[in-house]
Amino acid sequence: MKFGFLKHSLVDYPGEVCAVVFIPGCNFHCLYCHNQNLEADVEHNGWTLEQILSYLRDARRLLTGVCISGGEPTLQEDLLIDLIKRFKALNLKIKLDTNGSRSEVLKSVASDVDYVAMDLKTSPKRYLKLAHPNEALTLLTNLKASVELLLQRNPETYEFRTTLSPFWADEAALHDIGRMINEESRWYLQRCRGEAEPRNAFERLEEEHRLQRSIDIAKSYSKYVCLRR
Ligand code: SF4
Repeated sequence: MKFGFLKHSLVDYPGEVCAVVFIPGCNFHCLYCHNQNLEADVEHNGWTLEQILSYLRDARRLLTGVCISGGEPTLQEDLLIDLIKRFKALNLKIKLDTNGSRSEVLKSVASDVDYVAMDLKTSPKRYLKLAHPNEALTLLTNLKASVELLLQRNPETYEFRTTLSPFWADEAALHDIGRMINEESRWYLQRCRGEAEPRNAFERLEEEHRLQRSIDIAKSYSKYVCLRR
């Protein structure tokens, strides 16, 4: 199997210098997602686990952590557990990126993971349009269970993040998301790229206004709101 791999990043793991391992494959189909490009890229330029481990051994003095991202890493539980074990053996801190749809997997690895970033993409009732129909029966229960699991952690060890898609994360959706978390939760908002880029100065101004409005809404639910551009 091959993985996407970024040798070092200063932005994917708060406070750490990390490498990023991308596991291809996801059970959602967000329009703004890089996952399809990732799958094609991994096929041609992917790294094997042996190559990644060899690089990490050599780069250990420069890196403090590894971010395991996707796709959706929790879809492959055995692989995820194996990766966590191997990266921890190199004394690296572990961050997991997840869409929260596999709460039982998240629960099984939670104590071995130093930091979790979970996407909250839209209102619970609108999630079914983002996910594969096979997910319908369990998705909302799992999302809520994942949120509850994170809310029990030290707030410095997890974050929720929302991509500010004008369609999926409009004001009503941000209020619904805000009601799922608590005020100690870190809530990162991310500019949406690829869905509706502003085409002129007027649209850019409108987008800035929308971003500010989104931040204001998020701040009414969390003390730790940050915009990632
Ligand atoms: S959950 Fe993440 S990886 Fe999956 S389709 Fe959505 S943005 Fe892409």
